[in-house]
Formats: sequence, structure tokens, C-alpha cells
Amino acid sequence: MTVYDRLGVRRVINAEATLTKLGGSRMSSEVLAAMADAARSFVALDELQRSVGARLAELTRNEAAYVSCGAAAGIALAVAACMAEDDPAAIRQLPDTTGLKNEVIVHRTQRNGYDHAVRQTGATLVEIGMSTGTQAWELEAAIGPRTAAIIWFQFVGTGHCDLPLATVLKIAAARNIPVLVDAAAQLPPVENLWRYTEAGAALAIFSGGKDLCGPQSSGLVVGQKRLIDWMRVNGNPNPSLGRSMKVGKEEMVGLLVAVERYLAMDHQARAERDERVVASWIAAMSQLPGLRLERSFPNEAGQPLPRLKCTIAPKVAGIDRDTLVARLWDSDPRIAVGRGGDDAILLNPMTLSDDDTGLVLQALVAVLSEARRKRRAS
Ligand SMILES: *Cc1c(COP(=O)(O)O)cnc(C)c1O
Repeated sequence: MTVYDRLGVRRVINAEATLTKLGGSRMSSEVLAAMADAARSFVALDELQRSVGARLAELTRNEAAYVSCGAAAGIALAVAACMAEDDPAAIRQLPDTTGLKNEVIVHRTQRNGYDHAVRQTGATLVEIGMSTGTQAWELEAAIGPRTAAIIWFQFVGTGHCDLPLATVLKIAAARNIPVLVDAAAQLPPVENLWRYTEAGAALAIFSGGKDLCGPQSSGLVVGQKRLIDWMRVNGNPNPSLGRSMKVGKEEMVGLLVAVERYLAMDHQARAERDERVVASWIAAMSQLPGLRLERSFPNEAGQPLPRLKCTIAPKVAGIDRDTLVARLWDSDPRIAVGRGGDDAILLNPMTLSDDDTGLVLQALVAVLSEARRKRRAS
């Protein structure tokens, strides 16, 4: 009996994505063992953060690294560091930013729910560009004496009418403004752990609880030592803005082991496995009427991994997309799938164990076959 059975909470088979609302990802036994090990004794938290950070920096080919309690918290702490630096009075004052550099520049086209992490620090977002395009002079003109940082969100909205990242980095470097890259879901490819900072980003911020399969409430911030040092003094356990975003010893150690594991992983073999899963789903469902089956690539966050896109013709299949999604979610265990457009579902192998890939297929075929039987009977 699992802890979820005891609580009467249904397990979810996650064929959607590394979504926080579904629990993000699953930790390996090595990561869990390291966390259990860490939980058994006391430690000087700051010493552990420094030691884990040094190891993470080396592993990710960066000057410095820091474990935050999630990528969103990493963004907030990074912004706090850019505003308050290591000035004790400024650190104490936040989120009141009176007298501090407190503007963070963002592309209008990159505004999204995670920019709350910037604003919670007291910083003000200064938007550049329009939904039809962004010009380099707009960034130049937005930079002023109150500019603390530029935030770049690398996500599904990036690349539509924003400046190229290289242009942003070049303009920022000339004016000595740090560029913070939110790359929370930008793994794989594993090279992204150093690619953004090598290109000139001051910091790159990754979620520890997505494809890294580290602790859910962990994030990895890599980049310039000076900024990471400022994040430390703005972070837990110091009385500061970051105190409410505590990272435990277990998360620090767990994330380190997860990153070690991720770097040692055969990413080619992993991608090939996901391709095989998608191809096998397509083959297994090809006889079902009313479906258009295709490989969709890259995935929703732009990661180079395939998904199955299954477009449903309700009149032929006997069920519409939303009813199908609801049936799968209401099953036990629950099955979560992605949605595409008005009439498609997307199945993602990256969050599925080998057993689960079969269970998802079985459940999908069962719901579709029943819908078809009912339709014929009526
Ligand atoms: C997931 C995500 C985050 C938040 O990451 P957490 O580790 O859950 O805090 C931030 N930004 C983007 C673009 C994301 O995809």
C-alpha cells in the first residue's frame, strides 16, 4: 500500500509533461538515498550550500552555482541580488525598493505567469517591444540608471517578435547590465547547463524538479560568482527576502546527485527510447477509426524529444477530445494527457516509465473502443 492509497488519493500516470501541478517529476533511487542520508544529521547550511554550489559549478562548467527552492525562487533571488547586492540595509529593506535600482526589463511578448517571481521582490517590469516585433533601440532606450537586470524567458513564447538573445546579450554587455535567463524547462539538451552563460548571460536558472528529476522544490542557478554570492546573502538562512524560500539540506544534496546523474545519462539512448515509444503508439492505434496520428516535435517547451499527436474526428471516433481527456483523468489511476488545438491530445513519453507507456495505450484504446461501440449501438 502506498502513501497515496492510504490517503485515498489516486496515482496519476503523467503522459503530459513535467508539470508542477502533477508533481513535476520522479526522483531516482540514488537521489532519494542521498536525501535520506542528508536528513539524518545536522550540518552548517551555508557551508553545505557553498560546497554543493562549488561542485555544481564544476559539473556545469560555470563560475558558480546555487541551489534555490525551485526555478521561480531562483528568479526572485537573482532579481533581489541585482537590486540589493550585498548591502545589508538594502537586503533588510526589500521588497521596498525605494532608492534602489529596481527596474527589470522584459520583452512584452515574453510576459508570462512566472514573471510574478520578478515582481514579488518589489521590482518593476519595464516592457519593451510590441506583439508585432521588437527593435534593438527599444532595449537601448529602456536601459537607464534604475535598470537592475534584463530577464529573458526561454519558453514556448520565445522567438516570436522578440530580439534574438544574442542581440540582447550584446547590448546588455555594452551597458554592464546582467541578463537573467529563465531556462527552467530547457533540459534537454544537457549542454544548456553551460550554453546560456557561455554566451554571456549573467545567470541561467533551471528547475530541479523537471527533467533533472531532482527534488520538486529545488532549482539550479548557474553563472557569475559575484551575483551568486549576492544571492547567498539575500537567501536563506539569512533574515531576508529569500528566507521564505528555504532550501533544505536534503534538497541541496538531492539536486547535486540529480545533476551528476543527468550528466552521466546517455541522452542519445533516452531520445531513441522516446522515439520508439511514440512509433509503437502510432502502430498500435493505427487501426482505430477517426484518429490522425503523428509524431510531434519538439515538445511544448522546445525540448528535442518527440510526442504523439492524436487528432480526433468526433463524428467517426464517437467521442470528442475534451470528453476523452476527462475520461482518462477520471480513471484509476488517473491519466493526464496534453491538449493540442481544439481537437488533439498529445502523449509525452518523457514522464512515463516503460510500464506506464503500455498502461496509457491500454486506457486510451479502451475509452476509444467503448465510445465506438456506444456510437454504433445508438
Ligand atoms: C517550470 C517553469 C518555471 C518554474 O519552475 P519551478 O522549479 O517549478 O519553480 C519557471 N519558468 C518557466 C519558463 C518554467 O517552465
